[in-house]
Amino acid sequence: MDKLTPEQRHVCMSHIRSRDTKPELKVRRWLWSHGYRYRLNVKSVPGKPDIVMRRYRTAIFVNGCFWHGHEGCCKIPKTNREFWVSKIERNKRRDERNYEVLQENGWHVIVVWECQLTAKRLEQTMRGMERLLNENFLSIYRPHKPAAYNQDEEDSLPMAAEEEQEYGGNIH
Ligand SMILES: [Zn+2]
Repeated sequence: MDKLTPEQRHVCMSHIRSRDTKPELKVRRWLWSHGYRYRLNVKSVPGKPDIVMRRYRTAIFVNGCFWHGHEGCCKIPKTNREFWVSKIERNKRRDERNYEVLQENGWHVIVVWECQLTAKRLEQTMRGMERLLNENFLSIYRPHKPAAYNQDEEDSLPMAAEEEQEYGGNIH
């Protein structure tokens, strides 16, 4: 017996077979529809975060629970167990290094897990993210700290290619 709910099991197993990008899409869709703007996979930002919000000096990672080793979430397959354990451990160490480099460079890091984005939990998760974004924004503009945000820099970044396709013509 294990403690996974059927919903969790589905989430975990789906990622053993393929790496779809749906969880990331859910985050982007929510942010976009609530007026947040962002960049995707900005190469100049260390660790290639899934979503970059310069205005909030925030890098967002949307992590698959299995591959990124969400603690206590996914069961590791019994077959080739050692292989999976070492692979997932490597991924986790790489993630940690990426987060550290970002933080050393003055970025806030938000990690959101796939299992937090089910229909039931999405709204709560994203409201939590929104609170963090607001805190991050305030921390940038504390009076004793010079503002790190530069509108010109943001304008010169490439636009996310799939935004129009994803949301049709109603967003502009
Ligand atoms: Zn999880």
